[in-house]
Amino acid sequence: MVTAGPTHEKIDPVRFIGNYSSGKMGYAIAEELASQGGEVILVSGPVALQPKHQNITKIDVITADQMYQQCVSVFGDMDGAVMCAAVADFKPLQQAKQKVKRGKDNFTLELTANPDIAAKLGQMKTDGQLLVGFALETSNEKQNANKKLRKKNLDFIVLNSLKDAGAGFQTDTNKISIIGRDNILLDFELKSKSLVAIDIVAHMIHNLVL
Ligand code: C5P
Repeated sequence: MVTAGPTHEKIDPVRFIGNYSSGKMGYAIAEELASQGGEVILVSGPVALQPKHQNITKIDVITADQMYQQCVSVFGDMDGAVMCAAVADFKPLQQAKQKVKRGKDNFTLELTANPDIAAKLGQMKTDGQLLVGFALETSNEKQNANKKLRKKNLDFIVLNSLKDAGAGFQTDTNKISIIGRDNILLDFELKSKSLVAIDIVAHMIHNLVL
């Protein structure tokens, strides 16, 4: 299973909280897993992409709550999951039924935390299932990624830093490091997201075989 793209959290009928995730990295991983013979479930937030490989089944979701429900119901049957989606950390506590009107100088929106999907799958994970997370950090990258790896019970975490040119959201390239539970760090060169996907899937297969 692969999660990809952003989530959109509704403020009112015409507005949402979102982020710049394009889904490119998650879709590239889904394609690579499928071309290696995997039957892939791609749980995708709203993006402009479509999967190409026939072994990819896409489940469309909009919100983090929807992504959580789909992932939790599907994960038990999976050999593993790659959590590539940029899930919104917060959602509006209440959604306005009508469009919020202009006119006030200030507008306060109360937010409440979304569920952490990766952490939930980390609790559900059984022997033989592989759970891979992503970390997009702007400071103390390796330290923060390492903390997330342990907190969410991931097998390894893919770190991309916003400090690296050509890495992160929207771009067609990425520059990653992979951090494992043994603290071993693998640094990769800047390359296209489809080549990065090959590196990540190779690392997954290596870890599944061990
Ligand atoms: O804690 P942070 O959001 O930085 O963690 C990133 C990792 O956790 C990514 O793999 C992301 O897909 C996953 N995540 C999730 N559900 C959330 C937040 C993050 O699955 N609510």
